[in-house]
Amino acid sequence: MIHNQPWRDHNHGDCVQEAISRATALCAARNVRLTALRRRVLEILWQSHVPLSAYAILAQLGDGARPAAPPTVYRALDFLLEQGLVHKVEHLNAYMGCPMPEHPHLAAIFLCEHCGCAAEIDAAGLAAEIGAAAAEQDFAIRRQTVEISGACSRCREQRAGTRA
Ligand SMILES: [Zn+2]
Ligand SMILES: [Zn+2]
Ligand SMILES: [Zn+2]
Repeated sequence: MIHNQPWRDHNHGDCVQEAISRATALCAARNVRLTALRRRVLEILWQSHVPLSAYAILAQLGDGARPAAPPTVYRALDFLLEQGLVHKVEHLNAYMGCPMPEHPHLAAIFLCEHCGCAAEIDAAGLAAEIGAAAAEQDFAIRRQTVEISGACSRCREQRAGTRA
């Protein structure tokens, strides 16, 4: 199970395992290739619940001796975005793994401004509202993400603790 409140204590190994196995199953079902590189990029993104920039991914991809080439990372990210396996957090210019990649959805992403943790929900009600408004405006939506900044419960508790 992928934890839906990532700032709560949980066994993150379960999140990683579940995310990778879902991605593997999904790519097999769609008959697209989750190459070693694409899988590696997804694993790097799932190391934590903190979204990462392409640059940060690149830094981890290098084999130590030589860094990976930027275009290969961007191509892998394009594939993962296209398959809905990751989302781009626009205002951070960063990427995060999607916990529910099987069906298209409007991702509402809660971002903690203190620890950088991100949680995603499927904002189905909001999606319906935006869809109706877009139809009214005769506007074709290509990509949509809702980003909400604030403080996670762990950071709020820590702050309350230091004050006490
Ligand atoms: Zn986790
Ligand atoms: Zn998602
Ligand atoms: Zn936090």
